[in-house]
Amino acid sequence: MITEFAKITGISAHVLLSNSRQKDVVAARHVYWTLLHEVGFPYLTIARLNNRNHATVIIAIHHTKELLSVKDSIVNEIYNNTKHLIELKMSQIGKEILEIEPRLNYSNQKANIECYTSKIYRCPQCYGAGGKHYDQHDKGGERYEACSNCNGTGEVQGRITIEWVSVGEIKEKFKAKEE
Ligand SMILES: [Zn+2]
Repeated sequence: MITEFAKITGISAHVLLSNSRQKDVVAARHVYWTLLHEVGFPYLTIARLNNRNHATVIIAIHHTKELLSVKDSIVNEIYNNTKHLIELKMSQIGKEILEIEPRLNYSNQKANIECYTSKIYRCPQCYGAGGKHYDQHDKGGERYEACSNCNGTGEVQGRITIEWVSVGEIKEKFKAKEE
């Protein structure tokens, strides 16, 4: 996504990932992080991908959303020119649409519950790697750390539970008569 973003904004990926404090670059960088967040990347992943700390990313994204809400001209222009990348990225990640319709409650139980499972997706946090390998130069020494999102499998699945409940008023003829 950074390649497309760089192309549109005219600011190279290298500069976006750098520490340049030039006003336009900072605005573009923060819009880029905001787009990543809207695609569904967790703050921590955005921080890792961009070599920043977690707090910096959170503050920058919140600030950018504020600037967008007050229609700040620089931020707004970058965002409007690049926001279509969100849809593009979403379609690459894959999404499913679940259609639901009421069904018969054969069991006659009070809770009419239906379960669905999604397709299996590559874990968006570790990109399917299952976790991270730290070498002897990393703080804490060499080790493997399983991804907290997929517990080291590299794959995730959505589970949706639907509870059908009665609504409205009981029809007159079915109401219990008062003695
Ligand atoms: Zn994972």
